[in-house]
Amino acid sequence: MQIRYRVDTVAHEGHRGRFTVELNGVTDASVDLVVPSWVPGSYHLVNYVRGFRNVTARAGPDGALLPTERVESSRWRITTGGHAEVRVDYTVYGHELITEAFDLTPEHLFLNAALSLPYVEGHLEDPVEVELHLPPDWRVVTELEEVRSRPPTYRARNYDELVDNPIDAGHPVVLTIRPHGIPHRIAICGEGGNYEAHRLEEDLGKIVDAAIRLMGDSPLTGYTFFVHLTDVPDGGLEHGASNSSVVHRTTFEPRERYERFLGLESHEYFHLYNVKRIRPKVLGPFDYTRENYTRLLWWMEGTTDYFSDLVLRRADLLSPTRFLEESAKIAKLLLESPGRRLLSLEELSQITWVDYYKPYEESPNQSVSYYTKGYVVSLCLDLEIRHRSETRASIESVMRLLWKEYGQPGRGLAEGELQPVAERATGLELGEFFDRYVRGTAELDLDHFAGYAGLTFGPKPKPSDDPSPEAGYLGIRHRDVGGFVKVTHVLLDTPAHRAGVSPGDEIVAVNGNKVAASSFVKDLEAYPPGTPLDLAVFRRGFLRHIPLTSGSPPPEKYRFASLETTTDLGKKVYQAWIGVPWEPAKPAATNR
Ligand SMILES: [Zn+2]
Repeated sequence: MQIRYRVDTVAHEGHRGRFTVELNGVTDASVDLVVPSWVPGSYHLVNYVRGFRNVTARAGPDGALLPTERVESSRWRITTGGHAEVRVDYTVYGHELITEAFDLTPEHLFLNAALSLPYVEGHLEDPVEVELHLPPDWRVVTELEEVRSRPPTYRARNYDELVDNPIDAGHPVVLTIRPHGIPHRIAICGEGGNYEAHRLEEDLGKIVDAAIRLMGDSPLTGYTFFVHLTDVPDGGLEHGASNSSVVHRTTFEPRERYERFLGLESHEYFHLYNVKRIRPKVLGPFDYTRENYTRLLWWMEGTTDYFSDLVLRRADLLSPTRFLEESAKIAKLLLESPGRRLLSLEELSQITWVDYYKPYEESPNQSVSYYTKGYVVSLCLDLEIRHRSETRASIESVMRLLWKEYGQPGRGLAEGELQPVAERATGLELGEFFDRYVRGTAELDLDHFAGYAGLTFGPKPKPSDDPSPEAGYLGIRHRDVGGFVKVTHVLLDTPAHRAGVSPGDEIVAVNGNKVAASSFVKDLEAYPPGTPLDLAVFRRGFLRHIPLTSGSPPPEKYRFASLETTTDLGKKVYQAWIGVPWEPAKPAATNR
């Protein structure tokens, strides 16, 4: 069947675009048009269909109306009456600039097919064309193959490829770099932006170069970094030959903020290997109507996140100190989540569809992000492999073997195959590690793994000249609701949890003193650990008093630091991992 989409943003009304699907060579008595319920890379179901209206079908461009029934919320059934040519017109409202978007404004179009171009049931594998009708001065950026330039028309080999290649049009600033001879475009969409074009070209070029050197080669003939500038940052979404990030327009300064942007781009770029090509078997071809389950998502996301920092280190965009600081920050996030002990990485991968994207008040106690835990487990696996193989192998060897054996189109990694590949890549038996930390929920002893690289891991000691008092700790998270302290989370095994403080409570006074959300954290300095407290709270609108004793706060910061001595192997592991020689801890007082 020939499938051809027409996107018209000239005749748009407000944020509502006009669309047409033309089908040729129809042989069935009916055809179903289906709007996906999710986009690969964003593992939760979403009502993308909500903006669809005015769906009508005709027999060819000027033919008779055909009966069209909405048989499911995201599915229309058209009775073809034997016609080989069917044309369906519809409109879609799109006004949300997020990483997977159909966003239409007078200045800009950002289109992910899953949100605006429904597929034809049974024909996901058929090639498709998209024809764009845009204001004459708009420029189009996409990695889809161009069929003709007037009107701009593109082709995809199948629907998956269409969804995997967003289309951006408007007035983007386009920078082009050619690391390893491969054209990479940086398409900056949106006004403003405190970026420096030269530096962006140079730094993204370094990321590309470091990723290619780490993996050995590149499958690309071209790539686009879509960078959408806005005021409500959303993150990034990976594609096979592009990624779309939505960032704050001031994200490029100062250095630490810019490093987070580079980390995002490094993460999304590394996905072109890990998840887009080295992929779990179930992730492509996709079922767009329901959850696609795999226990490997932690490797696809958490391990990608670890490699994102490794690539920045290899590119020297993160210094050795900053690399270790970033790793310690992520480890802190893990240690602050009581739920880390309840779910294995494999189970977190399975339940992400109902868990990660839909957190609620009990989430920190019963779950943890597989980005966070996957990052830390990957780091420990890396150190385990480097130590036991005496630096002959690393997690990088595992990724390279996955790339070599599973990177080609159509292959896919079966659910139980990761550990055997890791064992072949390293020559090590890794069953115990996977049992404990991937399939199980054993607590990671980070200090133990850090020791393999001549380091120690733990809370960062407070400088001895720091006069700030230790504030009392309750174990809640809160937000400001009309100036009041509204409890959003009560963390397990904390004073608040033991005393029965509940999410939803509004704390109005501590020991009779009125509290305000704006100063609450500071106010707790008046009640050092061990102080008896009387919390006055409104619970479901009724005032009550909760007695409790303030506790000691958890560490503010964690850090990796050098030991005073280490073995030759420890030095070798550190050098192979961080890329610079190991140095012993400086004599006391300066703890960095
Ligand atoms: Zn990711």
